[in-house]
Amino acid sequence: MRHGVAKSEVYMFQRERIADGVYSFQSDIYAQVNAGAVIGPDWVVVIDTLALPEESIAIRNFIEQEINLPIRYVINTHSHADHAWGNCFFPGATIAAHSLCRQFLDTKGRASLEAIRKTNLSYKNAHIVLPQITFGRGELKLQVGKKTLKLFPLPGPCSDNIGILIEEDRVLFAGDAIMPIPYIVDGDYDETIETLKEISKMGLENIVQGHGDIVLRGEVELFTKENIDYLIKLKRIVRSSARRKYPRDVLDVADIEDCGKSRVLIGGLAPELHHNNLLALYKQIYGKPARAVDDDDYYEV
Ligand SMILES: [Zn+2]
Repeated sequence: MRHGVAKSEVYMFQRERIADGVYSFQSDIYAQVNAGAVIGPDWVVVIDTLALPEESIAIRNFIEQEINLPIRYVINTHSHADHAWGNCFFPGATIAAHSLCRQFLDTKGRASLEAIRKTNLSYKNAHIVLPQITFGRGELKLQVGKKTLKLFPLPGPCSDNIGILIEEDRVLFAGDAIMPIPYIVDGDYDETIETLKEISKMGLENIVQGHGDIVLRGEVELFTKENIDYLIKLKRIVRSSARRKYPRDVLDVADIEDCGKSRVLIGGLAPELHHNNLLALYKQIYGKPARAVDDDDYYEV
C-alpha cells in the first residue's frame, strides 16, 4: 500500500510521510530528485536539498512554518548539484557528508556553480557551503530524539555517496545508489553492483531513492535484482560493441528496453542516461572512448 502523497501548490514538491516524523520530498521540476526530513522533538535533520534554490527554500519553509521547529543539521548524500547546492539556504544548520563530498563541492562544485550562475538567474543567490562534519570510512551516528540515524558509505554511482539509515524504522535514504536506472557515469560499475547487493540484504521497510518513487519493503528484492540485471545486460552490449570496428554503431542504437528498463523512467530522462551509461562503461573497460564512424578522416567506399 502506498503512503499518502500530499501535493502542495505552496511548497512545489510532492511530500510523503514515510514513518512517524520521517518525510520525503520529490521535485516536480528536475529528474524526480528526492530530499527528506527527520523530525525530532526539538529540531529537524534535512537530508539533501533538491535541485533549485526555490525548492530548497520551500523545504525550509515547510519545516519552519508547518512543523514549527528549527533545522539543526543538513546531510548531503553526495556532492551533486541536485543534492547539495542548497546547503546555503539552511543558515544555522551544520552540514554533514562524506569527506570526498566536501572535497568535490570545494573543487568541481564551486567551478560549475560559478559557470551556471552566468546563465541561470535562479542561482544568483546560491553559493557552495561545505560540510563541517565529515567521515570517510565506518559510520557516523546521529541521535534525533528516539531515532538513530546511521550514516555510512554507499559508493558506486559516485565515490562520495552515503546512505542514511533510520535504524528504528528501517528506512534508508540511499542517495543515488538506488535509482530507477543505475547511473554509473560518475562512478564505478563493480562497486554499484556490490552496493545494490548490500542494500538488498539490509531488511528495509522503505528506500528513499536519489530519484524516483519510494521503494516499499515488498519491492526491495526485485528492485535491486532488476538494477543488477540491467547492469549485466549493459556490460554485454558494451562487450559486443567492442568487436566492431565502430563500437558506437552498436552503442548509439542500443535500446534501453532491451536492458529491461522503461524509457519513461526519471521523467523521461531514462534513454539519455542509458546512452551515457553505455559510453561511460565502454571507456571504463577499454580505457578510451568508443569509436564512431565520424571519428575517421575519410569513409571507405
Ligand atoms: Zn542525483
